[in-house]
Amino acid sequence: MNQDDLAAIDLQIHACRLCPLCQNRNCAVPGLGPAPARIMLVGEAPGREEDMTGKPFVGRAGRLLDGAIEQAGLVRAETFITSVIKCRPPENRKPKKLEIASCSHYLQAQIDIVNPEIICLMGNTAAQAVLGMQGIAALRGRILQDRFLVTYHPAAVLRNRNLMEGFVSDLKRLNTLENH
Ligand code: SF4
Repeated sequence: MNQDDLAAIDLQIHACRLCPLCQNRNCAVPGLGPAPARIMLVGEAPGREEDMTGKPFVGRAGRLLDGAIEQAGLVRAETFITSVIKCRPPENRKPKKLEIASCSHYLQAQIDIVNPEIICLMGNTAAQAVLGMQGIAALRGRILQDRFLVTYHPAAVLRNRNLMEGFVSDLKRLNTLENH
């Protein structure tokens, strides 16, 4: 499994018409990063700037994520970053169940290819889609199923900067865990 396998998934995502979100997208946003990678970060869905560029987390929330990654001592280029769904929902609304169900096999394929030691699920949508659990207050900072760590979504931290310290502290745990 390697970059060629990831590129093949990217092509499928760019051509995908499995849910109605394909109708209004400018670009699908498969995700970005090396394969294999020790850490994978999973958000909710592309936003406006991601839809325009085809790259994950390049808008305001992405810049906040970059800062948090740096503060945590991680290197963004060494992590694989993606979202539960790959096309932008209108007005950045929450993804619908049907959209998540239609798209989730791409994320699973990426997890299989990237084969991360630890997967950071950022926000309730990612925790619900991957683990079937939600409730950030109860889940965040815990290691679940030996492989998953749940934390805030960067957009939530953008709205409430008081969450930044906890967000960075969760990302720091990824550094510790990757050495296990
Ligand atoms: S969101 Fe996922 S399932 Fe829906 S069109 Fe985009 S790639 Fe396909």
